Amino acid sequence: MTYAVDTRAVHAGREDLAELGVHALPLDFSTTYPMHDQVAAGAALGAFADGAASAATPVYQRLHNPTTARFEQALAQLEGTEAAVSFASGMAAITAVLQAACVLTGKKHVVAVRPLYGGTDHLLSIGLLGLSVTWVDQDEVGGAIRPDTGLVVVETPGNPTLSLVDIATVAIQAGDVPLMVDNTFATPVLQNPARLGAAYVVHSGTKYLGGHGDVLGGVVACAEHRAGALRQVRILTGAVLHPLGGYLLHRGLATLPLRVRAAQATAATLAVRLAVHRGISKVHYPGLPGSDPRGLIGRQMRGPGAMIAFETAGDAAAVVAALRLITPAVSLGSVDTLIEHPALLTHRLVDAEGKETGGITPNLLRMSVGLEDPEDLWADLDQALTAARAAVTVAAGSAPLPAAGAVSATSAYAVSGSAPVAA
Ligand SMILES: *Cc1c(COP(=O)(O)O)cnc(C)c1O
Repeated sequence: MTYAVDTRAVHAGREDLAELGVHALPLDFSTTYPMHDQVAAGAALGAFADGAASAATPVYQRLHNPTTARFEQALAQLEGTEAAVSFASGMAAITAVLQAACVLTGKKHVVAVRPLYGGTDHLLSIGLLGLSVTWVDQDEVGGAIRPDTGLVVVETPGNPTLSLVDIATVAIQAGDVPLMVDNTFATPVLQNPARLGAAYVVHSGTKYLGGHGDVLGGVVACAEHRAGALRQVRILTGAVLHPLGGYLLHRGLATLPLRVRAAQATAATLAVRLAVHRGISKVHYPGLPGSDPRGLIGRQMRGPGAMIAFETAGDAAAVVAALRLITPAVSLGSVDTLIEHPALLTHRLVDAEGKETGGITPNLLRMSVGLEDPEDLWADLDQALTAARAAVTVAAGSAPLPAAGAVSATSAYAVSGSAPVAA
């Protein structure tokens, strides 16, 4: 019998706890595992080296950890896949998929649809893994596939503009080439890409899965025949999720459906109000009329989600500087509402062409709606948008003063230079 997602979120990966006589998830920090039978230990090591999910002993934490393995089982149950493989971060998970699907197979060409998370875009663009990439529109994927194409990469809703990709249609175009879908924004509560033909479903667990802004992690949900290579890559690169991270991500799953739906309801309310605010020129939210031309809400996604992007009429950085309640920070999917400026931060390292095709404009802000009261959030947004608009009007009539937020956002970033992309 298959339980509903809310039930699975609470019980998955905990089936044996009553038998063990414990209620909370067991947390195992061991880095090594004693075994007097060295022959059996050697057989276990050999099994892990071959990509096995479990063996008679974990041997060593880089090969296996019972706490992270429980989280993996739970996430696989939420995504409806045979397996899941966890990693130290979302970027480590994406890198492992590229290594397994492209580097190990020698198929070093990737077809990708923009926009993608800035880190993924940058990783593909700079050729760090020796891969070449063809950027296409979602309707052009089929025509871009070559004999040496190892992977098709999409993200939906896309970071940061929330544009939607039709997963089933892209999977058909990809044919035998595996499709990777970054499902971070939708979460398994709203969308299950594997059911629509995706071979790899990737999450930055740092976001909604953890949900409280205190754990960095990533995970790939896939069929068991693909999971083995991902585990082999993880053993060799050492990009393992810490057991405490596995524990926190697993604990976060229990409240994931409630958090996502509550934040989504608030996002829908705010998006409608933002759309008619005078301080805003455009709102990107899949739930607004005209924002889902392919009719994917309902068919592919069970709701429009809790992420909103909008373009301000005036200086976007000044709007962020004027906020008092909403947290001005990168990352998303936390209990508190977070806002950031993609062109300055998360998508700073995306090249000019990528910014153009991805719709990453200078006045774009990305907001991850949290669990605060919607009226408190609206009051904060309204006062900040109004204050920033008033500042523009004043500046237009007198000496132009740079807004405090614009200056600090730029100079703060200059210190870290072109450091790897933030979330
Ligand atoms: C944050 C994010 C990532 C990267 O995840 P990390 O955990 O920061 O490495 C990948 N994809 C999307 C859509 C993200 O938002």
